Amino acid sequence: MPDDPSYTQSRRVASWNTRFERSPAAIVECTSHDDVRLALELASATNLEIAVRSGGHDVLGASTGDGLVIDLQRMASIEWRGDSIRVGGGVRVGQLDAATGTRNRVIPLACNRAVGVSGLTLGGGLGWFVGLYGAACDAVERATVVTPQGDVVETSSTDNPDLFWGIRGGGGNFGIVTEWQYSTYGIDTVTSGTIVYSGTQAREFLQLYRDFKSTCPDNVTVEVVAQAHTHPIIAATLVVVGTPNAARKVLKPLLDFGPPLADDLSTTTFREAGRQRGDSVRRYFMWKEPMQLDVRRTPGSYWQGITLESLDDKSIDVIADAISAPPPGWSFGLGHVMRGALTGRSDSATPFVRCEGHTTVHFDGAWSYAALADPLMTWIDESIAQLKPHAASSQYVNYLSDGSPSAVRHTYANHYNRLRQIKQRYDPANLLRGNRNIPLPL
Ligand SMILES: Cc1cc2nc3c(=O)[nH]c(=O)nc-3n(C[C@H](O)[C@H](O)[C@H](O)COP(=O)(O)OP(=O)(O)OC[C@H]3O[C@@H](n4cnc5c(N)ncnc54)[C@H](O)[C@@H]3O)c2cc1C
Repeated sequence: MPDDPSYTQSRRVASWNTRFERSPAAIVECTSHDDVRLALELASATNLEIAVRSGGHDVLGASTGDGLVIDLQRMASIEWRGDSIRVGGGVRVGQLDAATGTRNRVIPLACNRAVGVSGLTLGGGLGWFVGLYGAACDAVERATVVTPQGDVVETSSTDNPDLFWGIRGGGGNFGIVTEWQYSTYGIDTVTSGTIVYSGTQAREFLQLYRDFKSTCPDNVTVEVVAQAHTHPIIAATLVVVGTPNAARKVLKPLLDFGPPLADDLSTTTFREAGRQRGDSVRRYFMWKEPMQLDVRRTPGSYWQGITLESLDDKSIDVIADAISAPPPGWSFGLGHVMRGALTGRSDSATPFVRCEGHTTVHFDGAWSYAALADPLMTWIDESIAQLKPHAASSQYVNYLSDGSPSAVRHTYANHYNRLRQIKQRYDPANLLRGNRNIPLPL
C-alpha cells in the first residue's frame, strides 16, 4: 500500500520516466496460484484496473498502473523435470540461464538477463539461440494459467490447446501465467564476448554487419550496441556455438573490420559467458555522467523499439545519422534477425509472426538527472519516427512501442482473429487489458 516503506521501490518498473510513472492503489506480491486468484477477486470486488508484472521490463510500462498491480516476482521457483525445467512466473532470464547452465543446457531466452521470462515468452522471446532453437515461446511444453474467472488451468498441446497456442506470443491477454515448463537443449561451450570499434565507423560497420548476418550460419548470433560513455563506440556482442577454431574462422570478417579497439572473445560455458564483460572492453562501457547538470537526482530510463523489414542502406543512413548527434545517456541496439529455426517453424505454430530477415532495432536512454530526460526521450522518439517508413509489415510485439489497438491488430496480422476468439473464451470482459491488448467485442 502507498504508506508501506517498500512501496516507492515496488512501484518502479524498468522503463521509469515521466510518461510511465504510476502510483498503484496497491501492489499484491503473490507467492502462489491462490494469491493470484485472490488478487483477481480483489480487483473485481474493488473495480480496480489490473496490471500484471513479472520482470517489469515492458517497454511501455504496461506492468504498472493506478489500480492493482499483481506482482509475480516472488514466484521464482526453478525445478528440473528430466531435461525439462518448470519455473515460477516471476523468474528472470539470468536466473534461468544460470540454472540451466549448471547442467550445460540452455533455453532460447533473451539476450538481456534482467528481463522476466513471463513477459518475454508471452510475446515470443528472441535471444542468443534464435538461429538454432527459435524463440522462447517455441521451447514451452506446458504452462499453468490463472484465468480472469479465477480458474487454475493447465495448458499444453493436449490440455486446453487453444489457450496454449495463445500464450505463446499473444501476450497476457487470456490469463496470468504462474508457471512455465520449458524444454532445454544441451550445449557444452560457446565462443562469446564483445568486439569494440570506433563509433566513427558506425555506417560502414552496419553495412558489414548486415552482409555478415545474411550469410553466417545459424549457430552464430551477433547483436550490435552503440554508446558514447567515454567516446562513441559501436560493438558486436556475440555467441557462437561450436569449436573455438570454427568460431574464429566464421567471425573473421568482424575481426578484420576496423581494426577493432578491443575484444574479449573467449571460449567458455554459456553460463560463464553471461557474466561480466572482460577488462579490455569494460572500460568502453563505463558510464561517465555529465556532472555539469547539477539538478535533483531522479534516475530513469526510456526504451523504444521497431522491427525493420531488413537492414537496408536507407535504414542504416537513418541510424548512423541518429547516433552521430545524440544527447548524453543514449544507447542504440540492433540485432534480433529472424532466421534459422525461428523462421523454419510453421507460421501457424504460435501467434508469433515469423518473417525471414525481419530485424529489431531499439534506441534507449538512461539518466540520473531529470534535466537529461526530455532531450533523451525526444531523441529516441524522433529516431524511431524516422525509421517508421522502413518498418516491417508486422512488428515484434515485445518491442512494439505503440500500444494502440490498430498497431496490435496489424502486428498479429492473420493470427488476430484466432486470438480474439481465445480472448472471447477466457477474458470476455477484458479484465486483462494492461498489455498489447486484443479488445472485444468481436
Ligand atoms: C532493457 C531491455 C532489454 C530487452 N531485451 C530483450 C531481448 O533480448 N529479447 C527479447 O525478445 N525482448 C527483450 N526485451 C523486451 C522484453 O521481452 C519485453 O519487454 C517483455 O515483455 C518483458 O517481460 P517482463 O516480464 O520483464 O515484463 P513485464 O513488464 O513484467 O510484463 C510485460 C507484459 O506482460 C504482461 N505479463 C507479465 N507477466 C505476466 C504473466 N505472468 N501473465 C500474464 N501477463 C503477464 C504484463 O502485464 C505486461 O503487459 C527487452 C526489454 C528491455 C526493456
